[in-house]
Amino acid sequence: MASESVGHAFLVSFPGQGHVNPLLRLGKRLASRGLLVTFSAPEYIGRVMRKASDMNNEPIPVGTGFIRFEFFSDGWGEDEPRRYDLDVYLTQLEFVGGDLLPKMLKRHAEEGRPVTCLINNPFIPWVSDVADTLRIPNAMLWVQSCACFSAYYHYFHQIVPFPNETDTEIEVQLPFMPLLKHDEIPSFLYPTTPYPFLRRAILGQYKNLSKPFCVLMDTFHELEQDVIEYMSKLCPIKPVGPLFKDPKARDSNVRGDFIKAADDCIEWLDSKPLSSVVYISFGSVVYLKQEQVDEIAFGLLGSEVSFLWVMRPTIEGQSGLEPLVLPEGFLERAGETGRIVQWSPQERVLAHESVACFVTHCGWNSTMEALSSGVPVVAFPQWGDQVTDAKYLVDVFRVGVRMCRGEAEGRVVRRDEVERCLREATGGEVAAEIKRNALEWKRAAEEAVAEGGSSDRNMQDFVDEVMRRSLGVTVKSAPTV
Ligand code: UDP
Repeated sequence: MASESVGHAFLVSFPGQGHVNPLLRLGKRLASRGLLVTFSAPEYIGRVMRKASDMNNEPIPVGTGFIRFEFFSDGWGEDEPRRYDLDVYLTQLEFVGGDLLPKMLKRHAEEGRPVTCLINNPFIPWVSDVADTLRIPNAMLWVQSCACFSAYYHYFHQIVPFPNETDTEIEVQLPFMPLLKHDEIPSFLYPTTPYPFLRRAILGQYKNLSKPFCVLMDTFHELEQDVIEYMSKLCPIKPVGPLFKDPKARDSNVRGDFIKAADDCIEWLDSKPLSSVVYISFGSVVYLKQEQVDEIAFGLLGSEVSFLWVMRPTIEGQSGLEPLVLPEGFLERAGETGRIVQWSPQERVLAHESVACFVTHCGWNSTMEALSSGVPVVAFPQWGDQVTDAKYLVDVFRVGVRMCRGEAEGRVVRRDEVERCLREATGGEVAAEIKRNALEWKRAAEEAVAEGGSSDRNMQDFVDEVMRRSLGVTVKSAPTV
């Protein structure tokens, strides 16, 4: 096991799949550079992660470092429904976590593994307070794009006008960003958002933004160059992505899935011709209406493409959500051309040469994974940063076609539109162009994380800074990897 002299990064994650994945990937990266990394989250997430990935409590070697898991109680029983009320849950997490975390950190110090850096992701800004009180250097991993970081920043500080109750449809011009239509800004900022608790949760991070010495981002310099350079003048940001593409930690099998990924997806893809399969997934939270599922199903049949479709099981206890079903006879009609799974090993799916395009809800993790794998997208955003990511995927990165503008449109995308988008993204001139662009981004992403690339250098600077802050001396070279 790594000794205290190598540095010990303690990572605290909000219990969402889209938060856990990038933070765990960051953890693997730090471990691969020789740090001891402890990954921590509420215990109920630990239970699902253990079940999905067979992990145990032993430290796992990654590169020249180690990663270990240590979950903590959020003070509630296993099936507590109040967890679905984010306002209530965030208060509970802060109350219980704010008390437990210092004790956990103290124990590590007593056992000879003092924590030298505390890293959290959004929604749990109180972790920065704990770090501040204990005088432990703190960093935050932002899990969305730098463009969205900037949008929230400008909204929080009221620097530019945003849509409001009287002017609901104004366009928003942010520095070094394309003009955003009212429905292209992160939707939690709409005056009419049905999710004001998510706006509060995200903006909570901005109240504490002076505390982290560094804001790490799962993006890369070449992808969002202008806005990154601009925001760097306002905040200590460091783009270190794409985190899932880690040349140094490739051999590690540490995953943070909440649902066990279907083992045979890859075999099924192996049996399909090159660039022939449409991969469909709406991430870990988005829930489509039954009518929309039906239309997508008929659109798929109409377009005659092969498809791999992730349909998550409905979580028991999440009120008001009916389990979704496929239209009668759909599976029989699809036959061998289609595969439905509850959860896929998405990174491996996107890296597979049989995949032609990705129908995605445009969550930032999925966006980065698609771009950096060279896979064009059909954008089907619903809410939050997804609508902004969709704008970037289609109009800025130019790797996609748009199927809808977001949940706020309040419409069901009909089967003929689904069919048209699928055809456009899989054959003909548009398909060829977005594929070319996606391959360019893949190359740029690989260069960013390769030795000496922009994200690689930023990551090493970060590790050096952690070491310097913990030792109180200048570390001239990186710990050997
Ligand atoms: N994911 C996966 N298998 C699936 C669906 C999603 O591994 O079948 C992963 C995906 O690779 C990504 C994360 O779940 O890392 C979803 O994060 P994203 O930001 O795209 O969306 P969210 O779930 O936060 O809305």
